Order: sequence, then structure tokens, then C-alpha cells
Amino acid sequence: MKDNLQEETKYLINQYHVSAKKALGQNFLVDQSAVDAIIRSACILEDDLVIEIGPGLGTLTKGLLEKAKRVVAIELDEKMIAILKERFFLFHNMEIIHQDVLKLNLHELIQKEREQYGVKNVKIVANLPYYITTPIVMKLLEENLDLESITVMIQKEVAQRLVATPGDKLSGAITYSVFYYATAQTVAMVPKTSFIPVPEVDSEVIQLKIRKVPPVELDNKDLFFRLIKISFMQRRKTLLNSLVNGNVVKDKNKLKEIFERIGLREDIRGEALNMEQFAMLSNSLNSLLS
Ligand code: SAM
Repeated sequence: MKDNLQEETKYLINQYHVSAKKALGQNFLVDQSAVDAIIRSACILEDDLVIEIGPGLGTLTKGLLEKAKRVVAIELDEKMIAILKERFFLFHNMEIIHQDVLKLNLHELIQKEREQYGVKNVKIVANLPYYITTPIVMKLLEENLDLESITVMIQKEVAQRLVATPGDKLSGAITYSVFYYATAQTVAMVPKTSFIPVPEVDSEVIQLKIRKVPPVELDNKDLFFRLIKISFMQRRKTLLNSLVNGNVVKDKNKLKEIFERIGLREDIRGEALNMEQFAMLSNSLNSLLS
């Protein structure tokens, strides 16, 4: 199976004179077991809309078209667009959009698909271009898109950060964002040798299931995420100093009072706080500041 996909990909590359564009993060997947793992874990149902980001030569697209009611494939590279159109012209449940996904209005796209085709759940499936993994994931989460799940292959180190538990050693500011919007798990490990050309890093497939109810109640979401960002920008400093230096609060003593009230030690670092503690801090600061 693996050889078949590898041969098929090499054939397409030769046939269409493709040279992988590094600047667009083009590493084509040639491992059938990884393709199967992605499609299986995405749990696609027959009335689903699947949005695929960066379909490339169409390696995942084929399996998605066979399962979903509709597949909308968003690709930036014109050359890939031409290949996809030729490869999948027999499928009538597909739309190919030639656009930068970061500039696309996904709200409108989803609404149009619902109205025209009566799709039910919306799932994102992708082997993401690594150079913009984080902005894409954050766009999908922050735009409140009425998605059910996001199943994506990304660089291993980033994957580990996204699926970490807030407050754990591997967590970063983005861990808290992901946790706020979704539950996250790793569904497959994919070595770098599963791609043409071979990238410098291994990959993992992760799945984010969008929460219906957030895990903490926030009076001011922007402040909450600002606090987290500031804490992680100055990882070595105490949270107290980071917040004063970051101009969140000018009066250190007032901040100390809040810390005491919510049970935080004065020398605690931001990275040690879990989700609830950041929420308590942010809600208390919000009352103080407003
Ligand atoms: N899905 C294919 C596969 O698994 O073999 C290709 C994956 S490749 C890692 C990433 C794909 O994303 C490339 O086809 C690339 O052209 C496309 N891409 C890069 N930047 C993009 C952007 N801003 N918007 C949409 N697609 C993009």
C-alpha cells in the first residue's frame, strides 16, 4: 500500500512537472497508513462538510470525497489547483478554492454550504503547511466557526505543545488557547520519511474536538489571553513582575493583595498556573481595572 501511494505521487509529480515549493511548506504525504489514520480518526459521516486546507496533489482529498457529503479544498498554489481539477473532475461533491486560507472568510463559506447543500457537521482535515500551522489553528479556533473537529497533521514539537495540559512542562501560551476552545489528543505519529521531499522534522496527527461549553468562565476573554501571553513571554520572571513590567497593573501592592486572595504565592511563575488559576486572576484583575 505504502509503495502504491509513493509510486502514484511520484507519477503525479513527473506527469505535471511539479517541484515541491519549500516556501509553501510542500511536503507530500506518501504513507498510506498515515492517510488511513487521518481519515479514520476524522470520523467523517455522510452528511458532513469537510474543509481540507492545503490539499496539494490530492492525497487525502480522494478518501475525503468518498466519505463526506461535501469537500471544500482550499489551496494557495495555482499549479496544485490545476492538478486537483483534472484529478477529481468526476466528483460532484467538491469545491476547489484558490486562496490563502488565512485570508478566506470561513464563516461565509460554511454558511453557504449549509444553505445550498444541507450539510450537518463541519470538520477540518489537513496535512498543514508547517510554516503557518499556528496562525491557521488559531484562526480556526478563535473565529467561533461552528466546527465539530479539527484533525490535522503538524510538526511533532508543535503537536506536543498543542495537546499538553495547561500548567504541564510542555505547555506554552498556545496550550491554554487550545484547551479553552477544544479538547485535544494525539492520534498518530508520522515519521519524516513518510513525505516527499523528506522534511527536517517528524510529524504527528492531532485531533481537536471543539467544546460546546468553555472550561472556565471569563469576564474578559481578551484580558485572560493577554495575561497568559505576557507570562509566557517572560517565562523566567515571576508572574507578579511580568504583570507589572508588562503594564497590566501599575500598583504592585494591589496585585499582591489579589494574589493572596486567590491563593497564589508571590514568587509563582506564570507557566505554573493552570487554567482555573489564570481565570481567577483574570476575573479579579478585570474587576480591579474596570
Ligand atoms: N495535503 C497534501 C499532502 O498531504 O500530501 C499536501 C500537504 S503540504 C504539507 C501543504 C499544502 O498546503 C501544500 O499543497 C501548499 O501549497 C498548501 N498551502 C501552503 N500555504 C497555504 C495557504 N496559505 N493557504 C492554503 N494552502 C496553502
